Amino acid sequence: SETPDETAAFPVRVRPEIAGLPPYRQGKQAGADAFKLSSNENPFDPLPGVVAAVQSATSFNRYPDALATRLRSRLADRFGITPDAVHIAAGSVSILYQLAQATSGPGDEILFSWRSFEAYPGLATVAGATAVPVPNRGDGTHDLDAMAAAITERTRLVIVCTPNNPTGPVVTQEAFDAFVAAVPSDVLVVLDEAYAEFVTDPDAVRGEDVIAEGRPNVVVLRTFSKAYGLAGLRVGYAVGHSRILDAARTTGIPLSVTAAAEEAALASLDAEDALRERVAVIAERRDRLAERLRETGWDVPAAQGNFVWLPAGNRALAVAAAFEAAGIIVRPFDGDGVRISVGEAEAVERIVEVARAAR
Ligand code: PMP
Repeated sequence: SETPDETAAFPVRVRPEIAGLPPYRQGKQAGADAFKLSSNENPFDPLPGVVAAVQSATSFNRYPDALATRLRSRLADRFGITPDAVHIAAGSVSILYQLAQATSGPGDEILFSWRSFEAYPGLATVAGATAVPVPNRGDGTHDLDAMAAAITERTRLVIVCTPNNPTGPVVTQEAFDAFVAAVPSDVLVVLDEAYAEFVTDPDAVRGEDVIAEGRPNVVVLRTFSKAYGLAGLRVGYAVGHSRILDAARTTGIPLSVTAAAEEAALASLDAEDALRERVAVIAERRDRLAERLRETGWDVPAAQGNFVWLPAGNRALAVAAAFEAAGIIVRPFDGDGVRISVGEAEAVERIVEVARAAR
C-alpha cells in the first residue's frame, strides 16, 4: 500500500473515491498439496465437449461476435424468451458493474444486503453512487423488510443475492415476491443467482419463475463460473427486459466475451446431464459438510451454494490461518466469518478436523 508521500508526489489525479477503494481481493492460490477452497470454484474438469469446442475457436485474428448471438439464442430458447432479453458479458460481475453504471450515478443509492458479494460496495463507488448496505439477519439471511424500509427516492438499484455469498442461505419465493411488490417500479432489482444450480431448497426463489413473471424492473443474473466450472473463461449472463439490458450493453466494454468463451458456454449447455450429476455431487457434499461442522459446535447457516460459512466473528483471521496451516485455503472476512468452498471430497475430513480444533 502507498505511503502518503508517494501519493503526494504522483501528478495524475484519480477520483478520490476510487483511490480510496481497496482492489478486488482474490482467493489465495494453494500450494502443491493444499486444497484451494477460497473462491467458490468447481473442482471438476470442464464438462464433456468443452475443451474440443474451445479448440475449434481458432480465428484468433478476428474479433469475436460482439453480441454473442449464438449463446444468446441458446439461452433465450432455454428460458422461452427472445434473444434481446438475454445479455452476455465477461462474467456476471461485469454485468453488475454495467447495470450499476446504467442505473446509478452521483447522488443515487445502490442497496444490498451485507455481508454479501464483495464486489457490491465497489461497483456502487465506481458508478459514483452511494453504497447502502443493510445488515443480514443473525442467521445469514437477507433482512428484506429492512431492505424495503431502506429504499429512498434516491435508490436506483437493489441487489438481492441468493444463495447469499458468503453466508449461504436463499431468499424464498414468497419473500422475494413480497419484496419486489414493495419496490417502486422505477428501481431496478437484480436477482444475483450466481449459485442457482446448487440450490436444493424447494421454497427458494427461482430465476425461471421470476423471468416468467416478466416484471420490467427485475433482472436475473447467472454465470458459467460456478456450477458449469468455467470461471477461467469468464462468461456470465443476465435475463430481463431488453430496455434495461440494452442499457447494460451500452455501458459494457465492447467485445469482452471471447469466441473461446462463447464456444465453451455453448458446449456446456449441451452437457446438461453431466452438469446435473456434478451439481448433485457438490450439493450432497455440501450438506454432509455443513452437518458435520454443526456437530462440532459451529452454528453453520443454511448452505445452498457450493460453500459453507463459519461465523467466526473476531476470530475469522485466526481460524483461516489454522485452516491454511492444515493445507486448506479458505476465505476469511475479518470480524465476521470464514467461507469454505465445497471442493474435492478428500478435503472434507481435514476441514472437519480443523473446524473442531478451532471451535
Ligand atoms: N455474484 C456472486 C454472488 C458471486 O459470488 C460471484 C463470484 N464470486 C459473481 C457474481 C461473479 O461471478 P463471475 O463474474 O465469475 O460470473
